[in-house]
Amino acid sequence: MKYIGAHVSIAGGVENAPLNAQAIGATAFALFTKNQRQWQAKPLTGQSIEAFRRNCAACGYEPRQILPHDSYLINLGHPESEPLAKSRDAFIDEFQRCEQLGLIYLNFHPGSHLGKISESQCLARVAESINLALDRTKGVTAVIENTAGQGSNVGHRFEHLAEIIHGVEDRSRVGVCLDTCHSFTAGYDILTEQGYAETLAQFDRIVGLRYLKGMHLNDSLKGEGSHVDRHASLGKGTLGLAPFGFIMNDPRLDGIPLILETPDDSLWPEEIKLLAGLAKKPRQRK
Ligand SMILES: [Zn+2]
Ligand SMILES: [Zn+2]
Repeated sequence: MKYIGAHVSIAGGVENAPLNAQAIGATAFALFTKNQRQWQAKPLTGQSIEAFRRNCAACGYEPRQILPHDSYLINLGHPESEPLAKSRDAFIDEFQRCEQLGLIYLNFHPGSHLGKISESQCLARVAESINLALDRTKGVTAVIENTAGQGSNVGHRFEHLAEIIHGVEDRSRVGVCLDTCHSFTAGYDILTEQGYAETLAQFDRIVGLRYLKGMHLNDSLKGEGSHVDRHASLGKGTLGLAPFGFIMNDPRLDGIPLILETPDDSLWPEEIKLLAGLAKKPRQRK
């Protein structure tokens, strides 16, 4: 069973996310639990939390079908102590919000070294940031997203993800989200069936498929190895539809949220149908 959805809006309150997901025919969804462009956010009200849980239950979304995403301002591998502390505080707040909502994942980009520390030092800081958040919360798994490797972002090599996981004390609460656009622009070939198979085999060898907790399904405006993160609607970028066919027919990706972060939200209902249609039907006998 594939859970397919999109990163939906929380305008008017987090409790609207499951309703927005249901309206586009989604069986999974992603959301921010606060305004992602601001450091500070008002705590979630009891009313909002209760409405979120009620709407999820009414629309049939279980926590394993929901992949919350943290704020883009946070840099868990920041080279300087003050901004690092600010990021860690905000990250812990994000974790606590997920905990309050009864959610089990928090998806985030690992961080950036800003040219001031080595990749390895940055990755160690990211791992320590995760440890701090896991220490202060219960039941929420830290889901590291692979990146395109734009600028000084770490996380574009599977080895980076493995190195972060290696530094996490409680490995039962750490996982990975693979973004198709990021994987491709980071240099992983997923265009052909063989390339896709080899990329997943590499991921399994270096990180371990048991850590895969979700995927972002995005086409890409830029080419393989460009290290540029620009999403495109499915079939309208350099990936085309083939990689999404491989994903939809891969039973190893059953039961995890598969989330669209494509730029035109008016296309999401069609894109969800398109993905479901790419799954091969069992052959009919005449
Ligand atoms: Zn993504
Ligand atoms: Zn992206």
